[in-house]
Amino acid sequence: MLYSDAHLHSNPITGLGAERIGKKMVETGAWFACLVSLPPYHYGYGLTLEDYRKTIEIVIREAERLRETGLKVRVLAGFHPAEVDEHIRQGHTPEEVIDLAEKVFEIIVEKHREGLIDGIGEVGRQHYSTAPDRLVLSELIMMRAFEIARDHDMIVHLHLEQGGYTTVKSIERLTGFTGIKRDNVFLHHVTYNEAVHAEKTSIKYTVPAKYRTLKKVFSSNLSRLLIESDFIDDPKRPGVSSYPWDIPKRVNKLIEEGIVSKDFVEKIFIDNTVKAYRVEPP
Ligand SMILES: [Zn+2]
Ligand SMILES: [Zn+2]
Repeated sequence: MLYSDAHLHSNPITGLGAERIGKKMVETGAWFACLVSLPPYHYGYGLTLEDYRKTIEIVIREAERLRETGLKVRVLAGFHPAEVDEHIRQGHTPEEVIDLAEKVFEIIVEKHREGLIDGIGEVGRQHYSTAPDRLVLSELIMMRAFEIARDHDMIVHLHLEQGGYTTVKSIERLTGFTGIKRDNVFLHHVTYNEAVHAEKTSIKYTVPAKYRTLKKVFSSNLSRLLIESDFIDDPKRPGVSSYPWDIPKRVNKLIEEGIVSKDFVEKIFIDNTVKAYRVEPP
C-alpha cells in the first residue's frame, strides 16, 4: 500500500530530521508528505524576525532532504497560535505581534515566488484555554493569512479548537469574507466532529492517524478526508503525536478488520492527496 502523510513536522536540531524520517517513510510505503514548520523555539531560536527567517530556511532545507529520499513534498511555513501566546508572555504588544506576523508572511510570499514554499501553516486559533484577546489576535493573523493565500493561490493549514459545527461554520464564514478559495483551506488535526461538517463543504480536512478516530471516520461514509501523523519529531515528547509510519500500520489493521476497503484507502492516499496538494500521482 502506498500512503501519504498530509501534515507532519521535522526537527533536524533535536529530533530525527527529514533525512531519517524520509528514508523510513519511503521504506514503509510513503509517496507524499506535507511538511510544516515548527515554532522557532522548537529549533532553539528566539522570536525575532531573524529567527523566523531562519525557521523558514530550515523548513525549506528539510523539505529538500525529504525530496532527496524520493518523496513528493509540499512545504508550509506559518505563525502558530501558540507562538502568539509566547509573544505576549514575552511582553510584546498585540500591535508588535501583528506587525511581526505581517513581515513573516512577506518572507513566506517571497519564498513562494521562488518556488520554495507552497503555502501557509500553521495559523489559526489556540485549541486550549487562553486569554480571549489572544485568541482574537490569533484569529486576526489567520484572517490576514487568508488574504495573502487568496492573492497568491497558496494553501493554508489551520490549527484550531476542536469545536465541531462551530469550528467549521466559523471557518466557512471567515473564508467567505476574505475570498480565499475554500479548496485551498485545510482544517488540520480534526476529530470526527469537525470531519462530518467539513465533509459538506469544499474545505479540506486532515485526520490524525489515531486508531479510534480513523475507525469512526471510516465507518461514517466520509470520503474527502486526508490522513496526517502530525509528527512533531521531538524525542522529549514521544507520545504527543504519531509517527508517519504509524499511518500504514493503523490503516492496514482497519483493512484487516474489515472496517475499510483497500480501494477506499487508495482513494484517500492517492486521489484525495493528488487533488488537495496539486501533485502528480505516484
Ligand atoms: Zn497543529
Ligand atoms: Zn502540526
